[in-house]
Amino acid sequence: MDKGLLVVVSGFSGAGKGTMMKRLLEKYPGVYALSVSATTREPRPGEADGREYFFVSTEEFEDMIAKNELIEHARYVNHYYGTPSGYVEKQREAGRDVLLEIELQGALQIRKRYPEAVLIFVAPPGAEELRRRLAGRGSETEEAIAARLNRAVEEAEYMENYDYLLINDDLETCVEKLHALIAGQHMRSREQLPFIHEMKKELKALVEGE
Ligand code: ADP
Ligand code: 5GP
Repeated sequence: MDKGLLVVVSGFSGAGKGTMMKRLLEKYPGVYALSVSATTREPRPGEADGREYFFVSTEEFEDMIAKNELIEHARYVNHYYGTPSGYVEKQREAGRDVLLEIELQGALQIRKRYPEAVLIFVAPPGAEELRRRLAGRGSETEEAIAARLNRAVEEAEYMENYDYLLINDDLETCVEKLHALIAGQHMRSREQLPFIHEMKKELKALVEGE
């Protein structure tokens, strides 16, 4: 079985990444694995420890960094966020494509460490719509929304550095595009080296046998 791909999904807070991931996992059970990050931010209403995030203290997080337990980590609007390594490797070995829903600094660390990773940026159709979605989510204060919009201005500078840009206009269409995009990555010739080696061997044997 082929090893699963590492798929980084970044985008402005409120673009709809979490909603897209949830829908993708629902539609294609067993195909994808969503990495659960550690964070020092407070849980939002409805979020559960170990499901949306591992909610940890700053001390615990710094301990994870010191013990090299994270494949990337970053500070985002006053809190730490990071990806624990164990789960990612286990799922990839089991052939599942692992989704990392992480911000820009983490995405750049992943690209350095895993050059084969695919980096996808998700944007809403426009800035006003982003504000509407952030406010509509109802999970942040006005102040936190403003901080996230300010961070979006900085993140927008890096949109071109990603391999792909997905516009999350209609949710279902966008989820299908994401699925097709990842399926396409499996067809890259460098993802099919065992087939290439076998084909070469068979061709040689065929020609020599004649
Ligand atoms: P992110 O994970 O990128 O911060 P969320 O998934 O929490 O964003 O989505 C932010 C808000 O936008 C949520 O209230 C969600 O229901 C809404 N939303 C997500 N995708 C769409 C879409 N395609 N059209 C309209 N609203 C959306
Ligand atoms: P939120 O607080 O809205 O859940 O997430 C804030 C930002 O942190 C989002 O851009 C999200 O993608 C990012 N994020 C979540 N987990 C991680 C992680 O493990 N590493 C990094 N670098 N960013 C993360």
